[in-house]
Amino acid sequence: MRDWWLLALLAAVCVWEIAAPRTALTSRRSLRWPTSLTLGPLNAVLATFALPAYALALALKERGWGLGLDHTMPSWLAIAASVCVLDLVAYIQHRVLHAVPVLWAVHRVHHADVDFDYTTAFRFHPIEALITNAVTLVAVAGLGLPPVAVLVHGAIASGITVLEHANARIPLALESWLGRVFVTPAMHRIHHSAATADTDSNFATIFSFWDRALATYRATATTGADIGLTQFRAPKFQTLPWALAMPFLDSERSAAVATPSSVHTGLPK
Ligand SMILES: [Zn+2]
Repeated sequence: MRDWWLLALLAAVCVWEIAAPRTALTSRRSLRWPTSLTLGPLNAVLATFALPAYALALALKERGWGLGLDHTMPSWLAIAASVCVLDLVAYIQHRVLHAVPVLWAVHRVHHADVDFDYTTAFRFHPIEALITNAVTLVAVAGLGLPPVAVLVHGAIASGITVLEHANARIPLALESWLGRVFVTPAMHRIHHSAATADTDSNFATIFSFWDRALATYRATATTGADIGLTQFRAPKFQTLPWALAMPFLDSERSAAVATPSSVHTGLPK
């Protein structure tokens, strides 16, 4: 079983959420979880995680294609640089998903979850899973990154994606310290707020410094804003058929009003 460690992480985060939840959920798990936990394996089958990207990187390396990072620097540094590059690609993709209406219609399936817990990490429409896989393949093909770096990035991104959606309590000082480099649950939770100013911030997947460097970092959440999207709060939108149909519904952005923020999350400024 190739992804046993990811299943172990999921089980650990699930227990952590139950033992020390950050906030009380507002919706029934029995309504939300079947949707997310069906989309997750479905998307895994469609995208087969990083295996095609790894195979492509391997084939290109054999043909001498690429930046040759692993020839010009120590292999550990080439892997670290490649992981950063792929994370920047993911950041740019995420911003484009928010900025282009037809892509936002697909990505909003992830944002329409009315609660925020580890299962939200799986709630992506299959079209978005295919887009993500295609973008990764193009990045790997265009840059010719070291094959092992593609695997390392895939593993880190999968693990962090689960952790950053955790509805679990973390000591404020620890989360603030981790948040200087990595995306934390408090930081990513702001991205899932219904307030537009919050949703259009904190796009990063692994490294929080992309948001800081590119002026999309937000350390405080809008007062009183719910998790989710205003126009998709009805219980039916938490079910699988409506989640699958969501990209083809009216694609207006949420009209939620961004009020001055004042909810301190403990994140570094
Ligand atoms: Zn988003």
